[in-house]
Amino acid sequence: MNERIRRGHTLSEPLVFELSSPGRRGVSLPEPDVPARPLAAYLPAGDMRDVPPELPEVSEVDVVRHYTRLSTLNYHPDRAMYPLGSCTIKHNPKVNEDMAALPGFARLHPMQQDETCQGSLQLLYELSHYLAEIAGLDGVSLQPAAGAHGELTGLMIMRAYHENRGHARRKVIIPDSAHGTNPASVTLVGYETVQIPTNAHGLVDTGRLAELIDEETAAFMLTNPNTLGLFESEIRTIADIVHDAGALLYMDGANLNAVLGITRPGDMGFDVVHFNLHKTFSTPHGGGGPGAGPVGVRSDLVRFLPTPVPVKDGDTYRFDYNRPDSIGRVRSFGGSFGMMVRAYAYIRANGPDGLRQVSENAILNANYIMRRLEKHYPRTVLVHGAQKETPIPAEVPCQHEFVASGTRFREHGVRMLDIAKRLLDYGFYAPTIYFPLIVPEAAMVEPTETESKESIDQFIDAMTAIAEEVENDPELVRNAPHTTPVSRLDEARAAHPKTLNLRYRKPETE
Ligand SMILES: *Cc1c(COP(=O)(O)O)cnc(C)c1O
Repeated sequence: MNERIRRGHTLSEPLVFELSSPGRRGVSLPEPDVPARPLAAYLPAGDMRDVPPELPEVSEVDVVRHYTRLSTLNYHPDRAMYPLGSCTIKHNPKVNEDMAALPGFARLHPMQQDETCQGSLQLLYELSHYLAEIAGLDGVSLQPAAGAHGELTGLMIMRAYHENRGHARRKVIIPDSAHGTNPASVTLVGYETVQIPTNAHGLVDTGRLAELIDEETAAFMLTNPNTLGLFESEIRTIADIVHDAGALLYMDGANLNAVLGITRPGDMGFDVVHFNLHKTFSTPHGGGGPGAGPVGVRSDLVRFLPTPVPVKDGDTYRFDYNRPDSIGRVRSFGGSFGMMVRAYAYIRANGPDGLRQVSENAILNANYIMRRLEKHYPRTVLVHGAQKETPIPAEVPCQHEFVASGTRFREHGVRMLDIAKRLLDYGFYAPTIYFPLIVPEAAMVEPTETESKESIDQFIDAMTAIAEEVENDPELVRNAPHTTPVSRLDEARAAHPKTLNLRYRKPETE
């Protein structure tokens, strides 16, 4: 079985400075045919260097090969499967890139008059309507720059709604399985987070919700399917409890990849939802940005949406700025426009049936992996206050992702972190680990719909091989990765920019 598993790369690459050789040149330009003026003619003497900078002296081929080799050290979905749960990292069709690069889109100036960019306004208008239809809601703002920014925008809208009714309220209820951005967004709008524990089925405890909710509760923020990859089957009861208390129901839409064309947040009773275009709608995650986190709302919240909103008058499109109840602008111009073009292309290319197929295949892929791995990687949840984990009932399917626990590896001194590191040796990116917090030694696996059965089988083989290694040679797993250019980094230091030394200094030569 092991021969089928691809080994990781063993390449390492020096810095471009270390490739330098005195006098080597990348390009040779002809002598100028006009008199050369000294640099001092352009720059004040005080701004001039005494000695030239020590830039690397390399040829064109040195540079091309250096960066090409570096690009192969990078892990990305164009290279192999990326099972990172919650983040939905799927293959992004290349045609989306072509569409976003069309000169009419790429060369657009954000200050251009509406009549000179009707096509782009039409795209924004239609995209917001497609997203509203997909969500079963009535209005969408495309402005927010990411999911977390969408949460903030949604919370600002809900706060404006309550203030408009005369009482802003104080609290927002959030399950203990929630993504960290949820309580952070709640705090930013000046609300207080109240945590609700997850029950032994991995779902919201509706009895507890009814006890916790009161006239100071502004909203209940829920992810559905939740971050355990389980569908909140009592969602209609939850919506009734929330609405009876005069509160609003917010959906963190990061897991929308499981519901496209199957069900709609609005039909489930959600009042506000954010979309992560860079997760569900195949736009790049882009190393920290830009993303896009549009927000959809039900009809009586539409007037609070950020301004401006793309509208259609007869046959023409324009931005509507005349929105007196709007929470205002949350981002410059129309938002991450290039992301909108990609998401629009994706939705148009798939159509309603194709989008449903996306979710059905994502769910099928996740269940296939979950079932084939459950012997080694069982699904469990630690119910609030309990000493021991409870197994998720075997008959319950997962949605587009699942969360397995690695506590059974503890007796061999192996943690889920070690297993994630070992997976790198097998040529895979690691799943999300240690999230959600209610699963000890958590690994959250999300294959997405774009993986073939062959690549999924390779992943299963690798995970199985590692579980066997833990029993036979735990040291091998504990010290992984063995085949990457660098092994275990100090993660705390790496995340702390002040302690990192990023400046190259030439070694002293005499
Ligand atoms: C990714 C994610 C977010 C935050 O979205 P960003 O686009 O990364 O800001 C929020 N909630 C869940 C469940 C997520 O997976």
